[in-house]
Amino acid sequence: MSYPYLSARLADVRVRIAAACERAGRSAADVTIVAVTKTHPGEAVGSVQAAGLTDVGENRIQELEAKVAEIGRDAVRWHLIGHIQRNKARRAVELADLIHSVDSLRLARKLSQEAEKLGQVVDGLIQVNLSGEETKGGIEPPGEIEAFREICQLPGLRVLGLMTMAPFTNEREVLRSVFERTRALRDQAAESISGFEPRHLSMGMSNDYEIAVEEGSTLVRLGTVLLGERDE
Ligand SMILES: *Cc1c(COP(=O)(O)O)cnc(C)c1O
Repeated sequence: MSYPYLSARLADVRVRIAAACERAGRSAADVTIVAVTKTHPGEAVGSVQAAGLTDVGENRIQELEAKVAEIGRDAVRWHLIGHIQRNKARRAVELADLIHSVDSLRLARKLSQEAEKLGQVVDGLIQVNLSGEETKGGIEPPGEIEAFREICQLPGLRVLGLMTMAPFTNEREVLRSVFERTRALRDQAAESISGFEPRHLSMGMSNDYEIAVEEGSTLVRLGTVLLGERDE
């Protein structure tokens, strides 16, 4: 399987990101595309690299492990974007350059412990759930700032910002509100928590990334819009 439409699709995505940045008075250089290759074969990573992207996202440890074995640990920047079971924390620390899905204090503690054992500090984003959907992972209000504070004290984990998943809807104002509140939370954390580095906001997927960029996203996680529909 190859990806004949990838470069044209990527060009279109880049135009849309540039336009969203323009509307928001931001620089397009501050937005990184993370190509989400989940369910696609390793070849998809090669195609993504050939198209000029350097950041790849997977949502499952097993699949990340297989892709890293095939492509190489240092060939791209590997992003882990899905829920991690605590017994997989060690592999997550070893395999990911950035873990977007630090979705509980318990997981954060485990990741920090495993990183310390490996003599590493792992980079992560705290996943927040502001969608009101209980099925979505992430730290929810109230009490979220207190949880962030504890996570930011862990010695083996460096917190570089927040990640969120918008609710499953096409209502633009609902999507925007989730992204806006995530950014506000990032700003609040940056002001009040030492050890919280407000470098990243991971928000926006294929159907909502333009709104996410308007609201300050620095990492858009794009699968379908680049690689086509997944047959999951
Ligand atoms: C699958 C996935 C994406 C990409 O979704 P698309 O709609 O295909 O762009 C982004 N983020 C996470 C956490 C995912 O699991």
